[in-house]
Amino acid sequence: MTSISPADTEPPRWTINASVETLLLGASLFWAVAVNQRFFAGALAGHPGDNLGFTLALGLALVALNFLLLAPFATRHSVKPLLALMFVATAFAAHYMNRLGVYLDPSMLRNVLRTDVREASELFTPSLVPDLLLLAVLPLLVLWRVRIVRRAGWATALGVRIAGIGIAAAVLVGTVVAQYQPLASLMRNQKELRYLITPANYVWSLASVFGRDARASGPKKVLGADARPGPSWKTDTRPRVVVFVVGETARAANWGLDGYSRQTTPQLASLPVVAFRDVTSCGTNTEVSVPCMFSALGRRHYDEDTIRGSESLLNLLARAGVGVRWRDNQSGCKGVCDGVPTETAAEVAPPALCPGGACLDEALLAGLDDWLNKVDGRQILVLHQLGNHGPAYFRRYPPEYERFQPACRNEDLRSCTREQIVNAYDNALLYTDHVLATLVRTLQAHADRVDATMIYVSDHGESLGENNFYLHGLPYAIAPQEQKKVPMVVWANSGGPLDTGCLARKAAEPASHDNLFHLMLGLLDVQTSLYEPEMDPSHGCRREPGA
Ligand SMILES: [Zn+2]
Repeated sequence: MTSISPADTEPPRWTINASVETLLLGASLFWAVAVNQRFFAGALAGHPGDNLGFTLALGLALVALNFLLLAPFATRHSVKPLLALMFVATAFAAHYMNRLGVYLDPSMLRNVLRTDVREASELFTPSLVPDLLLLAVLPLLVLWRVRIVRRAGWATALGVRIAGIGIAAAVLVGTVVAQYQPLASLMRNQKELRYLITPANYVWSLASVFGRDARASGPKKVLGADARPGPSWKTDTRPRVVVFVVGETARAANWGLDGYSRQTTPQLASLPVVAFRDVTSCGTNTEVSVPCMFSALGRRHYDEDTIRGSESLLNLLARAGVGVRWRDNQSGCKGVCDGVPTETAAEVAPPALCPGGACLDEALLAGLDDWLNKVDGRQILVLHQLGNHGPAYFRRYPPEYERFQPACRNEDLRSCTREQIVNAYDNALLYTDHVLATLVRTLQAHADRVDATMIYVSDHGESLGENNFYLHGLPYAIAPQEQKKVPMVVWANSGGPLDTGCLARKAAEPASHDNLFHLMLGLLDVQTSLYEPEMDPSHGCRREPGA
């Protein structure tokens, strides 16, 4: 016996009665129309001829796709929480796609999942409010008033669901067949457009990331089991240090040493550094580039699963006898420093450099002088910068570096002029210039005892509004040069094993992240069959036997 409550007998007048299928269809239609503008724009841009028919077919296919995505998981009890969650997630997705030109591919989703709270909080700007109201709050209000109609018996319910799925699949296949020619050429020429199909893009990308993580969860494969010290370890008894600064979001286009019209690197320009002026990054985001920089595969043989599933260059170097340390001022080392000593800038720096718990990059240099006084053997110290991490470029530098004015002082880049955005971005580069020059001067001061090399390279570039793209992380195949060309600077003490005059001649040639693995092996003289001398810019430029 069930008791009947008054609410059941007298539903408020503004309640909507709907079956689960009707509700799913409504949500599918809403998303197809309300959040796929960029997909439609991209698809129609290269489409000659009958646009109306093609648009209608694409729209119909999107509705069917959305329905197929939801139908297997929506029951009478789960449909409302499921849709509520997806209305909110889709509103966020649409906001960043439309405002910043983001594509939600697996690599972008991995970046989102690994972002820390501080990084993420900079993306919560007032401009989110209208999108959230329209795309989340409004549909949630409607959803709240929906009363799910119960079907008579589970057999009927199951039958209706199966029929619904069948119809949606037929519509999807039908539209694809009807528009086969234009769709095939679209997918051939603009593959990346599929990452604009919302919400399927983030659902698919999320599933792909979890699938990959599950496959890579075992122990990591050993990298370079044959790694061993080279001959110079016996003949050269001076301490040898490589300080590798992994930069963040610095693009070559705005780098003074690379010929930018503004001098954004005045301090480095006054030091005897070697600037590589044509360097290509492995990826367009940290999650791809950082593991790639420390892998033997690089962009040439890029394979995400293999890189994630094996040790990094740092593990290989440690096994050969190199002292390894990773010091981080960002959201971690992306698996590269697993099994090696790691510390954060906040742990080692005086609190004055870390206002509110967020450290300026100078914090990475804390205690360096003391360390160099005592250092012995062969060492690699990796400093992972916060660099030019956006959108809050103005938070990346102390006030005295606000030299290019007016600078954008708002996380919502769209509320600033392009000039203000570029000014803030360039000020952050000025500060990186200061951090690197300070590091070089510190190493110089120890050159009587320690041979040191400083290598700086950014992990990827940044879009500053060109073609309406902001930040970074576009799929590599379609990413603009601004996101892929990065600065790279090398300094070594004169009289040390590296002949920088020789290196400067090599620096005129194009280079990439793929060179770093081999460069580090060369500089530390660690031998392994993975080493390719022709990939090592220091090969032929080192004053030691066999180099
Ligand atoms: Zn990055």
